Amino acid sequence: MELESILLPGISEQRPLIIAGPCSAETEEQVMTTACELAAKGIKIFRAGIWKPRTKPGGFEGIGTPGLAWLQRVKRETGMYVATEVATKNHILESVMYNVDILWIGARTSVNPFAMQEISDALRVTHFSGPVMIKNPVNPDLDLWIGAIERIYNAGIRKIAAIHRGFSSYDKKLYRNLPQWHIPIELKRRIPNLPLFSDPSHIGGKRELIAPLSQQAMDLNYDGLIIESHCNPDTAWSDKDQQITPGVLSYILNLLVIRDTKQTTENLKELRQQIDETDNELLAILAKRMRVSKEIGQYKKEHNMPVLQTVRYDEILEKRLSEAEKMGMGAGFMKTVLEAIHEESIRLQMEILNQ
Ligand code: PEP
Ligand code: MN
Repeated sequence: MELESILLPGISEQRPLIIAGPCSAETEEQVMTTACELAAKGIKIFRAGIWKPRTKPGGFEGIGTPGLAWLQRVKRETGMYVATEVATKNHILESVMYNVDILWIGARTSVNPFAMQEISDALRVTHFSGPVMIKNPVNPDLDLWIGAIERIYNAGIRKIAAIHRGFSSYDKKLYRNLPQWHIPIELKRRIPNLPLFSDPSHIGGKRELIAPLSQQAMDLNYDGLIIESHCNPDTAWSDKDQQITPGVLSYILNLLVIRDTKQTTENLKELRQQIDETDNELLAILAKRMRVSKEIGQYKKEHNMPVLQTVRYDEILEKRLSEAEKMGMGAGFMKTVLEAIHEESIRLQMEILNQ
């Protein structure tokens, strides 16, 4: 993809690029108070939801069009850029009419190719040039996320960024939305020049998770953060548990450690060489294990034995997991590795059996 910089005039290219503001625009006073407090802390881009996708009917579904005039006032009086979520053609037409600077597509929209196509077509009509930011779809499907990004690209938009806001799951023990970091990491590998933002507010769903999640995003080299901030979070009309005051936001941002050293030292080169060598050994050992597994497959075939012997597998799993833990590796990790190896062994043995 041939992308252009999303940096608007006056925005520094230093990591992290910050977008902050309330989950929803509620009243003109709440919008203006929050925006002024954020501007005083040096925040340059203000977010606020005007139309809110709510899980159940009856919740606050957004203030709608009157809120767009409040965003214009934020621009006029604070000099900040403003960003809002769009989900339909009308949202786009209105936002562009009211000079919203940045549009983002929510997780419940990027999941739907029909909605994404409608948005793409509307963007083309308005000649809006971006930035457009695309949140990951609610389900952990990287191709769907990339498809949504491509539809925006196909509308002629070149200022595009992705927002990682986590993935829905039934189990909401720690996170509101599971981070599944490997998905945004793979996105970054496939489209290296696409700026990547983290949305720690919607991943964590709790104030106390904003700082650690933001640090994690920085350590994974994300370009920016979009964080929900409200002048009085406890009274917020939506997502009150995850919003922080501009003061707390500024405190958290000041504590972030930004590791930006790019040059590779001799020591790192040597360590990387060791990793390469170890990986080669690992491959050789795995290949050896698969060879032995095939011989066992041959033996099972000749002696009319079934491929899967669960007692033996349980034994192997239990022993290896406790060994791995003694060696300082997580049991969960080792279980994933052993299961993958076992699955491949079974596949090879089934092949032999059916030859
Ligand atoms: C939001 O940013 O307020 C929002 C609704 O986010 P998401 O689409 O990630 O749920
Ligand atoms: Mn929200």
